[in-house]
Amino acid sequence: MEPIMIRTEQTGPILTITLDNPPVNALGAAVRSSLAQAIAAASEDPGISAVIVTGNGKLFSAGADISEFGKPLADPQLPDVLATIEACPKPVIAAINGTALGGGLEVALACHYRVAVTSAKLGLPEVKLGILPGAGGTQRLPRLLGVEAALKMIVSGDPVSAAKALADGLVDKVVDNGDDLLAAAADFAHSPACPTGERKVAGDAAAADAFVGANPRLFKGFTAPLACVEAVKAAASLPLTQGMAVERRLFLKLVAGEQSKALRHAFFAERAAARIDDLPKNIVRREIRRVGIIGAGTMGGGIAMNFLSAGLPVTMVETSAEALERGAALIRRNYAATAAKGRITIDQVEAAMALLDPTLEFGALADCDLVIEAVYENMEVKKQVFGRLDAVARPGAILASNTSYLDVNEIAACTSRPEDVLGMHFFSPANVMKLVEVVRGAKTAPDVLATIMALGQKIGKVPVVAGVCYGFIGNRMLIPRQDNALALVMEGASPEQVDKVHTDFGMPMGPFQMTDLAGVDIGWHRDETRIDNLKDALCAQGRWGQKTKAGFYDYDENRKRSTSPVVAALIEEFRQREGITPRTISDEEIMVRTLYTMVNEGALILEEGIAQRSSDIDVVWLYGYGWPRWTGGPMFWGEREGFAKIVAGLEQYMKRMPEGFTISPLLRAPQAEPIA
Ligand code: NAD
Repeated sequence: MEPIMIRTEQTGPILTITLDNPPVNALGAAVRSSLAQAIAAASEDPGISAVIVTGNGKLFSAGADISEFGKPLADPQLPDVLATIEACPKPVIAAINGTALGGGLEVALACHYRVAVTSAKLGLPEVKLGILPGAGGTQRLPRLLGVEAALKMIVSGDPVSAAKALADGLVDKVVDNGDDLLAAAADFAHSPACPTGERKVAGDAAAADAFVGANPRLFKGFTAPLACVEAVKAAASLPLTQGMAVERRLFLKLVAGEQSKALRHAFFAERAAARIDDLPKNIVRREIRRVGIIGAGTMGGGIAMNFLSAGLPVTMVETSAEALERGAALIRRNYAATAAKGRITIDQVEAAMALLDPTLEFGALADCDLVIEAVYENMEVKKQVFGRLDAVARPGAILASNTSYLDVNEIAACTSRPEDVLGMHFFSPANVMKLVEVVRGAKTAPDVLATIMALGQKIGKVPVVAGVCYGFIGNRMLIPRQDNALALVMEGASPEQVDKVHTDFGMPMGPFQMTDLAGVDIGWHRDETRIDNLKDALCAQGRWGQKTKAGFYDYDENRKRSTSPVVAALIEEFRQREGITPRTISDEEIMVRTLYTMVNEGALILEEGIAQRSSDIDVVWLYGYGWPRWTGGPMFWGEREGFAKIVAGLEQYMKRMPEGFTISPLLRAPQAEPIA
C-alpha cells in the first residue's frame, strides 16, 4: 500500500491532521494528496466542525521534498491543495509545533488561524534557491503582514522567530513549548472560517519600490528577489486568484532559469561535501570534549570562538603573556560587538568566555582531545611546535594544523603519530567564514578524518576534504589568478581594471583589493634591497596593504580606497625597467587569464585527486572566498561557460601565461563527462 504520510485523529468535532513524513515532514506527492483528501472529507463531514493541521516530531514541515527537485511534480500540486484548505467552510487552524519553512509555511498561511510554539521558526527560504514561494506565499504573506514586512521575509529568505511572527501578525497566538499546543489551537475552533486570501494588503507598489531602494544588497546580482517584488506588487493590486497566476508565471520562469540551476547546484554541492566516499561504513568517531589552540593571533582567536560558541571548552596557549592577553581580549571584544548588535545575549558572552582557558603552560594541552596549531606560517616553527605537542598530547588526541600552504605530511612526520595528524584550514575571519578545508595527510586515520568532518559541521562550518599540495584547493587556485593579475598590470592593465572585471563578475573584491586586505607583505622575503618584482617594490616602501593604509591602492582613515599615483608611477618605472611597452588590455583577456585559469587549476586539482569531486571545489570558493553564488562556483560556471571555449581562450593567451602553465586534459577531453 502507498504510504499516506499523514495521521488523522478526531476528538469530538475536531479533526487533527498530523503531517508524518520523517525526518522533516517534506511535502512530497503522497503527503500532498493525503492532506487534500483529508481536508476535502472533513469539509463534507457533518460530524467535524473544525480542523487542526500540525506536524509530527520537531518540525511542522521543512517544505518541498528535495528529491522532487528539478522533476515534473505529480498531482496534486501544492497550490491546489492549499486552495482546498483555504476554501474549507470550517475553521482550519495550523498548530505550528516547530520549524515551518517554504511550502510548510505556505500550508500554515492557507489555514485560517495559526498558533505556534515559542521555539518555532517561520520562513520562506525559496529565494536562496533562486526561486520564489510558489504556493501562494507571495500572495498570502503580504495579506497578513503588509508589503514591507512580507518582502523582508520573502526577499531575505531568513526565518523569523515565533515572537516576531506574533508581533507582525503572522501567527495569532504563541504558546510556551511545554504547553498544550493542540488545546490552544482548539480555542479557535469556534471562530469563523475566514480565509487569508480575502484580506486586503496593507501597502502598495510604491512601498515595494521603497523596499528595493532601501535594500540594494539583497538584490545585487540575483534575479529571484526582483521577481519576488513583482509577485508581492501583484498581491497588493489584484484579487488572490489573479495574484496566484502572476506568482505561478514568475515561479516557472525562475525555475527554468540559469540562476536557480546554479543555486540548486550550490545547495546540493554543500550536502555532498560532507560525504567522504572511501571511508569504511559505521566508523566510530573519537570524542572531542576539550579543544586546544596554539597561538592566539589573528586565526587562533577566531578559531577558538567557534568552539566556545558551540559550548566546547578551549585551552589557548601562547608564548608571551602579552600575546595571550591580546588574543583573549580580542575574543571578548568580538563577542561584545555581536551582543551589541542584539545577536547574542550578555549571558551568552559570559558563558562562552567562561569556557576559555588562556595559558602560557604548553603542558595544559595534555587535557585536550583536539589541538589546533595556529602559529606563524613557517615550516621550522611548525615542526618544533608539533614535536613538543607530540610529547604532551594524550594518546588518541587529534593534532591539526591551520597552515595555509605547508605540507601536512611533513608536519605529521615530525610526530610519532602521523595517523592522528591532519590540516584544519580555517579562513579569515575564522569566527565568521564558513569554510574549513580538512586536509587529509597520507597517513591520516579514517576515524580522525570522520571526527573532524563531523565536528566541523557541529560548530556550524562547511568542511571540505582536500589532499596535500601547495595551497590545497582554495589557495592553490588563487596562484594562477594572482600571477596573471600581476602580469596583466605589467603588460598594460591597471589594478582597477583587473579588479573591476572581478567585482562586475560578482566577486566581493578583485585580486589587488584582496592582496591589500590580506597584506601585500604575506610571503615577502623581507629584504628591502632585493626588488625582483612590483610587489617587492611596494613592500620595500612600506605599502603592505590596508593595515599600513597603502598597498596597490591608497586608503583613508575609514579604509576607503582610492587610486594611488605612487603605484601608477611605480608600475610605469617597472615597465621601463623590463622593457615593456604597455598595450591596451581587454576585459575579455583579463577574464581568460584570471578566471578561466582558475577553472583550469580546479580541473588539475580534480585530476590529481586533491578534491574528491568537482562540486567540492565550488563549495570551497563559495564559502571561503565569496565566489558569486548565482553562478554556482567556479567549476559549475566553467561548465556552463563551456570547456571548449575555456580551452580556446587559454590557448589564445598561452604565450603570455606565467612559466609552467598547462591546460588540464580534463578540460580538453572532447567527450568528457560533465565534471560539475
Ligand atoms: P599571527 O601572526 O596573527 O598569529 C600567530 C600567533 O602564534 C602569534 O600570536 C604568536 O605569538 C603565536 N605563536 C608563535 N609561536 C608559538 C608557539 N610556539 N606557541 C604558542 N604560540 C605561538 O598569524 P595568523 O595570521 O593567525 O596565522 C596563523 C596560521 O594560520 C598560519 O599558519 C597561517 O598561514 C594560517 N592562516 C592565516 C590566515 C590569515 O588570513 N591570517 C588564514 C588562514 C590560515
